[in-house]
Amino acid sequence: MMRLPGFRYRAPRSVDEAAAWLAEGPESTMLLAGGTDLLPNMKRRQQTPSTLIGLRSVRELGAITNGSGLTIGSGVSLSALTADPRISTAYRGLWQAASQVATPHLRNMGTIGGNLCLDTRCTYYDQNYEWRKSIDFCMKKDGQTCWVATSSPKCLAVSSTDTAPILQALGASVTLVSAAGQRILRVSELFANDGMHYLTRRADEILTAVSLPPSDGWRSSYWKLRRRGSFDFPVAAAAVAARLEGRHVAEIRIVLGAVASRPMSADRAAGMLTGQELTDEAIATAAATASEVAKPMDNTDFELVWRKKMVRSLVAYALHEIRGDDMRAMRHRLARQERLSIAPGISG
Ligand SMILES: Cc1cc2nc3c(=O)[nH]c(=O)nc-3n(C[C@H](O)[C@H](O)[C@H](O)COP(=O)(O)OP(=O)(O)OC[C@H]3O[C@@H](n4cnc5c(N)ncnc54)[C@H](O)[C@@H]3O)c2cc1C
Ligand code: SF4
Repeated sequence: MMRLPGFRYRAPRSVDEAAAWLAEGPESTMLLAGGTDLLPNMKRRQQTPSTLIGLRSVRELGAITNGSGLTIGSGVSLSALTADPRISTAYRGLWQAASQVATPHLRNMGTIGGNLCLDTRCTYYDQNYEWRKSIDFCMKKDGQTCWVATSSPKCLAVSSTDTAPILQALGASVTLVSAAGQRILRVSELFANDGMHYLTRRADEILTAVSLPPSDGWRSSYWKLRRRGSFDFPVAAAAVAARLEGRHVAEIRIVLGAVASRPMSADRAAGMLTGQELTDEAIATAAATASEVAKPMDNTDFELVWRKKMVRSLVAYALHEIRGDDMRAMRHRLARQERLSIAPGISG
């Protein structure tokens, strides 16, 4: 059995108190929300903070409030998020993404803030201490070499959060608070394509809220590839948000998940669709173009060539859904065409 290492636990009652305590030692302190990612990582000695600041008693982080769009406190659980009709009706893609994170139990504990800040993943890293020691560790923790690409100067671990790609596609922003003040970043600015330094959040900052722009006229969709439809992390994903005028695309954002160390924007594919009708041909061309952005590495589940190929299908599914197609029929037809056994692992 793996046990947690010793640590000091502090339970603030307000964001100000949490920020002040975090400022005392940001490099050796970590924030604990639901703990569904951080605590297993600590058991495996992947993350070894000497102090944890638990955010569960900070009530101001736990609400979803109306403004010009919606503001979601970072401590809102994924279950509460998916149970909220404002999300399930107006931000369908976010609802789909949050509904597919892990299992019901983990969604009861896991928060939207923790999901955005989720550690990147890799076959050589998500192992217990003894396993990692047996390969002399790796660059991300305790070692020097990246075993995925030994000449790589940076870690290539995979961004595995389900909600970040769709929040980026929806044009959401996040609020970061420290003892020094507050700043607001677009979700696209929160991430860096580096498996070790995958967040631009400073160590002394708390992610307090996610703000969604008004949903008027926008549709969104999220499709995910994983081995077991019941609880696995994504190994490829497509998030699309679009505003249609009649049959034409007025604005669109396409973001790929789990194919790099950050969510990847497929801007060229989005540009090709802007002003166009979403015909079968336009969808197929844009999906193929979007998949060029995907640079999966051989460090998670499934063959990397197949994962890259599936990105095209995932983007196509999302675009068909945005167009209003019957996705159940579509999924079976595409599955037959592609001769792929995709039913259990692909979901939207
Ligand atoms: C079996 C299993 C399957 C899983 N499957 C999926 C999946 O399919 N998709 C998926 O996306 N995730 C998955 N997860 C990961 C995890 O359950 C979710 O990502 C969850 O939303 C994490 O939220 P949390 O509140 O538990 O985060 P924590 O574990 O509490 O924190 C995660 C990270 O975020 C930081 N953090 C937390 N809150 C804040 C904050 N407010 N400000 C700044 N930093 C913060 C923590 O310091 C830590 O680094 C899975 C986990 C397990 C164990
Ligand atoms: S990508 Fe390389 S450095 Fe990063 S976790 Fe995997 S093996 Fe380690």
